[in-house]
Amino acid sequence: MRKWEENVRRVVPYTPGEQPKKERMIKLNTNENPYPPAPEVAKLLQSFDVTQLRRYPDPSIGDLIREIAAFYQVEPEQVFAGVGSDDVLAMIFLTFFNSKLPVLFPDITYSFYDVWARLLGVAYETVPLDERFLIRAQDYNRPCGGVIFPNPNAPTGELLPLETVETIIRQNQDVIVVVDEAYIDFGGKSALPLIDRYDNLLVVQTFSKSRSLAGSRIGYAFGSRKLIRYLNDVKYSFNSYTLDRLSIAIGACAIRDRAYFEETTQKVIAAREWTKQELSRLGFVFGDSMSNFIFATHPQIPAVQLFEDLKKADIYVRHFQQPERIQNYLRISIGTMEEMQELISFLQQYKQ
Ligand code: PMP
Repeated sequence: MRKWEENVRRVVPYTPGEQPKKERMIKLNTNENPYPPAPEVAKLLQSFDVTQLRRYPDPSIGDLIREIAAFYQVEPEQVFAGVGSDDVLAMIFLTFFNSKLPVLFPDITYSFYDVWARLLGVAYETVPLDERFLIRAQDYNRPCGGVIFPNPNAPTGELLPLETVETIIRQNQDVIVVVDEAYIDFGGKSALPLIDRYDNLLVVQTFSKSRSLAGSRIGYAFGSRKLIRYLNDVKYSFNSYTLDRLSIAIGACAIRDRAYFEETTQKVIAAREWTKQELSRLGFVFGDSMSNFIFATHPQIPAVQLFEDLKKADIYVRHFQQPERIQNYLRISIGTMEEMQELISFLQQYKQ
């Protein structure tokens, strides 16, 4: 080992899902939306004035933040935006998780949380989900350095009722509670209205799933003015120009089309419910996902084997090696109805 290596900040990085470069495939491995972004986005790109790219973007991301605030009927000062919710979450870890007491999150959850915690040297402790993969509010009723969990949870898809979310927030008013709502638009009830009652609450959402814009990297958080100010102070101390000009314009344009958003999320929900029925018929076991994916296992079919065989048929799903409790599960994102039909016919033949 070279001397300088002693001082390298070493990390075990997060592993993103595969992005194969194939024309024809059924891609159900990274919870993307199967539908294109709102139609106005294409028009915007066609008429976008490229000379604008000469200049830095607006560091305050004003145009996008004003549209988000208008859509959700909050004040722009209650909104923070970043390069995907990953960036927003990383800034939240950096800003608010700075206690000697451990930050709490579920043992089975978004696998980026422990990566940020380790990168930043944040103390953390994972809290086991119950045997049905559910979060229990009482497990989060103890002194800690903060709480973060996705709702619906990933990769389980399980939705926590808003009353239980509120219980967790109420129990933890001395620390910051982060509700990561990446998948909330597929059937859940957002904790957003609670930001007026709890000044320690941050609600994080993204354009990557329900708004079909994973490729533009746009995420945002809602919270009290004070929390958003603290977040911006850290953001401006790290990288003041986060979202680029194009993403700001795309996001501001996409969020105006409420009808398209509702139509496409409803289509994803319908395909999910159909897929649940068919998977049940085939003997798969899974929770009642309220997200745009289903986390399923089969008592007779080893998950890794099925994962590999699906891939050979150009159907990509996600398998997690860790933790052990979920090794025999596959996370299947919801595509178009046609894609789900193809998946189900593959599985029908596979079983015979
Ligand atoms: N939170 C959860 C629970 C997720 O599953 C994801 C998607 N990988 C993210 C946040 C980050 O999404 P993005 O950065 O695309 O907004």
